[in-house]
Amino acid sequence: MARHSTRLLLWLAPAVLLAAAAYFLVFWPLRDPHPASVPDRGLLAFRDVKIYSSPGGPPLEHANLLVRDGLIAGFGPGLPLPSEAPVLPCSHCVLTAGFWNSHVHFTEPKWRFAAWKSAAVLNAQLSDMLTSRGFTTVTDTGSDLRDTVSLRRRIASGELAGPAIFTAGSALYPPHGVPYYLKQSVPFYLIWLMPQPESPAAAARLEEQNIAEGADLLKLFTGSYIARGKILPMPVDIARAAVNIAHLHRQLAFAHPSNLAGVLAARDSGVDVLAHAPDTTGGIDDALLAGLVARRMSMIPTLKMFSTTVTTNPSYLDPIYAVVRRFHALGGDLMFGTDAGYMTDYDTTDEFRALAACGLNARDILGMLTTAPAARFGLSARQGTIAAGKSADLVLLDRDPESDITAFAHPLYTIRAGRVLYRR
Ligand SMILES: [Zn+2]
Repeated sequence: MARHSTRLLLWLAPAVLLAAAAYFLVFWPLRDPHPASVPDRGLLAFRDVKIYSSPGGPPLEHANLLVRDGLIAGFGPGLPLPSEAPVLPCSHCVLTAGFWNSHVHFTEPKWRFAAWKSAAVLNAQLSDMLTSRGFTTVTDTGSDLRDTVSLRRRIASGELAGPAIFTAGSALYPPHGVPYYLKQSVPFYLIWLMPQPESPAAAARLEEQNIAEGADLLKLFTGSYIARGKILPMPVDIARAAVNIAHLHRQLAFAHPSNLAGVLAARDSGVDVLAHAPDTTGGIDDALLAGLVARRMSMIPTLKMFSTTVTTNPSYLDPIYAVVRRFHALGGDLMFGTDAGYMTDYDTTDEFRALAACGLNARDILGMLTTAPAARFGLSARQGTIAAGKSADLVLLDRDPESDITAFAHPLYTIRAGRVLYRR
């Protein structure tokens, strides 16, 4: 009898341990995927700063701004500041709404096991990649939800000093269509696990599962570089099935288009946002771009990514810049994004320079950083501009981006919901 129970225990103990380990590794990090943010209590003030309250309006010179309990309480020249309000020291600085980076990834190995990593380590990483660049909200267009949801939960609780995060969770790829550059960096068994739905029903099922696990948007590879110079488009019926599920849940669909076929697959499946400018540009003419503008499709250029990870050869870059320039001239909605995380160089300076080279001025770029993404995500009532009652998401710059576009790249302070996330 005793020998029997000992044997049973020997069998049971590893099984129980394995089940517990599986629970903590697979399910526990995904709990509470949409936590409410704890706002900062108390006061914070700025004195004698130049305020660009929105990309369109005139700036306010020598203005004060008061934050109370995470919200903008008021601003303007001569606004009285309570004596007990701590003032962030900076006179003649420039204040704008907090920036969005609409294309990032939390996929570098340093984010793995984010549920368990020390707050100090994660805060340093968040500062390096995002908050030191002024980002108070980011859109992650593909990552492991276990890491990204864990980060979001720890940020929302106030334990980490990070941006608000929207995430796509797993991106969807065409059948047998994982990009070659991911194949080089990911173990073969993970490639096999990457979602490559072979039917509309499979795409819909995968997207439902993604949303159930905490995804806020859909990311499709409608044109996937399966080899250098070789692009595989996603069949439109498969793309459309996934987009329909996203829209049913009131979520946006993003796509990586790569070329004309990828843009057409995105357009014809109802995609809302091109996560990159197409970089194989043959056949992408004004009529096509005007059609995208008419459908209210947005574009995130990610210009520095192309020059950093492909080539700086003008014969490659110039046509991409031309697409962005024409899309902008036609009234297209552009959003700022860098592909940080896929790109390990997080400096935003060259992205601002590249956008200026496409004919965008400081006000256009401020719109890409603030009002455009806030509107696209239906959050204009709470974010995107400096207005009384809106979330105190703010960036303080030491010089005016109207005279130097790279001023956007070097904030002095980044503040989200009244909390200082970063100070230089
Ligand atoms: Zn990306």
